[in-house]
Amino acid sequence: MSKILVTGGLGYIGSHTVVELDKAGYTPIIIDNLSNSSTKNIIGIEQIIQKKLKWYNIDCKKEDALNQVLLKEGNIHGAIHFAAYKSVEESIKYPKKYHDNNIGSLEVLLNCMRKNNIKNIIFSSSCTVYGNPESLPVDENTPFKKAESPYSETKQICENILKRDSCNSVILRYFNPIGCHNSGLIGDYSNNKPTNLVPIITETAIGKRDNVTIFGDNYNTPDGTCIRDYIHVVDLAQSHTKALNYLIKNKGKHVFNIGTGKGVSVKEIINAFIKANNIKINYSIGKKRSGDIEKIWANCNLANKKLNWKAKKSINQSMIDAWKWEQHKNNHVI
Ligand code: UDP
Repeated sequence: MSKILVTGGLGYIGSHTVVELDKAGYTPIIIDNLSNSSTKNIIGIEQIIQKKLKWYNIDCKKEDALNQVLLKEGNIHGAIHFAAYKSVEESIKYPKKYHDNNIGSLEVLLNCMRKNNIKNIIFSSSCTVYGNPESLPVDENTPFKKAESPYSETKQICENILKRDSCNSVILRYFNPIGCHNSGLIGDYSNNKPTNLVPIITETAIGKRDNVTIFGDNYNTPDGTCIRDYIHVVDLAQSHTKALNYLIKNKGKHVFNIGTGKGVSVKEIINAFIKANNIKINYSIGKKRSGDIEKIWANCNLANKKLNWKAKKSINQSMIDAWKWEQHKNNHVI
């Protein structure tokens, strides 16, 4: 059974990927410093997979500590690097914090991988590297635009570091992950107040907020609200095991868009939540959010073909699961 190092393995996407790695026959070794996650996710993961996993409470920027884990474990086949800060808004306030952490942790990990002869890495990138695209859908050859935020800049820089490094790498450019495992047992325990649309909808549904504010309804889109490519996090997690299988057979550098290929508007998402869960949500139209991209969705043909992977879950299912998660997080009975 191949051991795979998973940095940030207790985070939102990391925890779902750990479950999928186990399902696919890999042995995940988790590194997480709990800076933006929770040990509740290890409890959830172990409940889902019905076995105990190894995890280390380590900051991935601490080279000695990370080295020790790699030495102690031995025989690690590859790394999946999730450990990074992810709030666009926070990155605008604290750009240095984002640069130091997101770029620093990748550099330390690559050093440690070199020392321990680990050659394969899967890296979490983001569709924000494309900025406001000129034509849609975006494919992997769409050029980078000037980054709209320090967060997005860190992803562009990390991609460039990987291109120059001697390792074999798969860069996965995520579109908008939503939902959670259908058990409702694992999910996003970020400390930050959510700024993403779906958690704001579920917080409104549970009564933590009065209302969802739609950031602008006069965009050049069919209903005037912004369009994104929302992907169920379990589909997204599965792309990592497929990427690992691919990288083991195909050395070198690879980049894939990971989305559904479909654009969905803010209003459509709110209505899908209302319909899927039969819950009323108050919403109103507010001002545009500065820096928002009008519309973006992915061309995922490359991942479909090369990775033999496709997003399968519907928006309806995502909305049911997102609501399960909100209730679980708040200890409501599901
Ligand atoms: N959005 C909104 N109200 C909110 C949060 C988000 O209308 O309270 C919109 C936002 O303008 C964007 C879409 O929902 O068009 C997705 O936003 P999110 O922050 O989830 O993802 P991102 O913009 O980073 O792709």
